[in-house]
Amino acid sequence: MKLSELFSLTRPTLSFEVFPPKAQDLFDSVSSAVSEIADLNPDYMSVTYGAGGGTSDFTVKIAEDIEKNHGVTALAHLTCVSSSKERVDSQIAQLKNAGIENILALRGDIPKGMENGDFGAFKYASELICEIKKQGNFCVGGACYPEGHTECKSLDEDISNIAKKVEAGCDYLTTQMFFDNDILYSYIDKLRKKGIFVPVVAGIMPITNAKQIMRACELSGTALPKRFIKIAERFGDKPQAMAQAGIAYATEQIIDLYANGIKNVHVYSMNKPFVARKIQENLSEIIND
Ligand code: FAD
Repeated sequence: MKLSELFSLTRPTLSFEVFPPKAQDLFDSVSSAVSEIADLNPDYMSVTYGAGGGTSDFTVKIAEDIEKNHGVTALAHLTCVSSSKERVDSQIAQLKNAGIENILALRGDIPKGMENGDFGAFKYASELICEIKKQGNFCVGGACYPEGHTECKSLDEDISNIAKKVEAGCDYLTTQMFFDNDILYSYIDKLRKKGIFVPVVAGIMPITNAKQIMRACELSGTALPKRFIKIAERFGDKPQAMAQAGIAYATEQIIDLYANGIKNVHVYSMNKPFVARKIQENLSEIIND
C-alpha cells in the first residue's frame, strides 16, 4: 500500500522504524527484532539507510522481508550524499524489483571534512525526489525539521527549502524527533502558511538511553523541555527505569498529538521490540478509536 493512501484515511496511524545491521553476522539478530515488531502489525515499518551504522545494502533486503514475509507495508529510506547517479539508480531499481512502493528520500549527513566538497550527483533531497519519481510509480516522502535543519540559517529559510521538496514531488513529510509538541504545532502552522499542505508524520523518539539522546539533541539543535531533563537526570543511570520513563513520556506525547489532530505518528523504535510493544499496548484503545 502506498503511504499516501494510508494517510488519506481518517483514523490515526502508528508505525515503527528499524535500522539494518552493520555486518552480515548481525543480520539474524536484526531480522528477529524486525520480525517481533512486524508481529505487532503496525501501519508500516521504515528501514533506515546507512544511518545508525547500518549497512545500506541490507535496507532493501529487510524492507522486502517486511513486505513479503510479514505482510506489513515497508518504507525504505534512501540517501544520496556521496553517491553517484549509477549507485542511486541501482538502489531504486532494486527497490522496484523487490516490490517496494514507498521511499523516504534523504540527502544524508555530509561526511566530516567534505562540507565544501563535491558530495555526489544529487546536492539536495529534492533532486533525489525528482530522480525517484522519474524511475517509477513510487510514493516518496521527505524529512522535515520542526526546529530547523542544523545547516540552515533560519527556520523560515529551511521551510522555503521544504517547499522546494514538495514542488519536486514529495508526497508527505516525516519530522525529526522533538520533545515539545507545541514546537510541532507551531511548525505545522508555518508550513500551512507557506502553502505546504502535504501530510506531516510526527516522528517520536522514546528515550531509553538518556546520555546518547542528550548528545544527539545537542548536535541536532533539538530542545529538551525541563520536565524531560529532570527525568533524564533522575533515571539516566538506571537503564530499566529510564526505559520505563522514556516510554511513558513518548506515550503522553503521542496521546497529545492524536488529541490535537495529528493523525500519523512514527516511532523511532530502533530495533527494540519491547519499546514498540509497550507503546502500542499503551495506545491500544486510542488507535482503535
Ligand atoms: P535536504 O532536504 O537536502 O536539506 C539539507 C539542507 O539543505 C537543509 O539545511 C536545507 O534547508 C538545505 N536545502 C535544501 N534544499 C535546498 C536548496 N534548493 N537550496 C539551498 N539549500 C537547500 N540519514 C541517513 O543517513 N539515513 C537515514 O535513513 C535517515 N533517515 C532520516 C529520517 C528522518 C525522518 C529524518 C528527519 C532524518 C533522517 N536522516 C537520515 C538524516 C538526514 O539525512 C539529515 O538530517 C541530513 O543532514 C539532511 O537530509 P535532508 O533529506 O533533510 O536534506
